Amino acid sequence: MAFVVSRSALSVSAVATPSGKRAAASRVVPRAALNDSAPKLFRASGADAPAQAAAGAPAAVATPFDDYRFAPIREATVSRAMTSRYFKDLDTYAEADVVIAGAGSAGLACAYELSKLAPDAKIAIIEQNVSPGGGAWLGGQLFSAMVIRKPGQAILDELAVPYEDEGDYVVVKHAALMTSTLLSKVLQAPNVKLFNATAVEDLIVRDDAVSGRRIGGVVTNWTLVTLHHDTQSCMDPNVLEAKVVVSTCGHDGPMGAHSVKRLAKLGMVDEIPGMAALDMNAAEDRIVANTREVVPGMVLAGMELSEIDGSPRMGPTFGAMFVSGQKAAHVALGVLRRRQAQEAAAKAATNAAAEALAA
Ligand SMILES: Cc1cc2nc3c(=O)[nH]c(=O)nc-3n(C[C@H](O)[C@H](O)[C@H](O)COP(=O)(O)OP(=O)(O)OC[C@H]3O[C@@H](n4cnc5c(N)ncnc54)[C@H](O)[C@@H]3O)c2cc1C
Repeated sequence: MAFVVSRSALSVSAVATPSGKRAAASRVVPRAALNDSAPKLFRASGADAPAQAAAGAPAAVATPFDDYRFAPIREATVSRAMTSRYFKDLDTYAEADVVIAGAGSAGLACAYELSKLAPDAKIAIIEQNVSPGGGAWLGGQLFSAMVIRKPGQAILDELAVPYEDEGDYVVVKHAALMTSTLLSKVLQAPNVKLFNATAVEDLIVRDDAVSGRRIGGVVTNWTLVTLHHDTQSCMDPNVLEAKVVVSTCGHDGPMGAHSVKRLAKLGMVDEIPGMAALDMNAAEDRIVANTREVVPGMVLAGMELSEIDGSPRMGPTFGAMFVSGQKAAHVALGVLRRRQAQEAAAKAATNAAAEALAA
């Protein structure tokens, strides 16, 4: 009788044999090769194994993975490993220091810079897509290369992303190489949590004596829920309070420029002129120069800025997105420290009043 290693019925596929016939690709392991102490293998039914051998399946190629065995686990353990951590994160980041809306090139660069500048800060990234990275997985028109004008290549040097130096600009052979490297650094930072497949649906707006009208956080929902509010009833959102929100939702589109459009509806900014026609030279400098706190508690960066400022689009050149994100991190840190000082002063005043009352 032969032993057949099978992960699941789904993993069995048909392969062409030298004779041109098709046969199941199950691996046939000689009895002598089996280690008695190893976990029991699936034993093929007596009817199946000879049939496969007879079908002329090719001889198995030896690989370093032939005796590979995973440690045992219960299904409930897998479930709890995920859910306990996710719900702990939701609890931790219900009061975030910084929320970054949108994990495109600007949002990721902001998270990366901020995680270095403020290791004490709790930074949450909310990304509506399952896959973070926004438009930075490709260059223009779905081409692979990413063009970055100097001196924007400094972040590539810092992350050790290789590029070709073309004088005034550099080229990374795959935009995905830069985006995946940046993303891996962000996700490794102990003070950053990415909530993907989650959309920012609205903003928390506060109005108090100390800070006036300001952004105090974001309203979120699973993106799949956000997309179905018109077909389902009453699917209430979740909220994350934040001392500062950085919005990097990209230019206008089905989900883009979300925060800018909401600020306009709330009357917190004037009319949105929208992104102007393409001018690479003007566009990148404008985006970096204009990266700022647009209303108290909200910093804007990346292409979302072009919507509010009417600045030109830039096409497939990415330096401004990274540098705008990095600049936003410094601006956000200033807002965070200001807010922390306000809260500390308010707490001290409350304590002093309580002490005076008690005396
Ligand atoms: C058709 C097309 C044309 C383009 N043309 C230009 C151009 O001319 N010039 C140019 O500079 N760029 C253009 N881009 C985009 C280009 O990819 C960007 O330059 C660059 O990616 C912008 O970086 P960003 O970080 O500002 O925004 P993006 O890379 O767009 O990232 C924004 C991120 O925010 C997420 N997001 C959006 N809304 C929400 C929300 N409500 N909640 C949570 N997450 C949200 C998105 O899923 C995305 O991951 C174009 C893109 C497309 C698809």
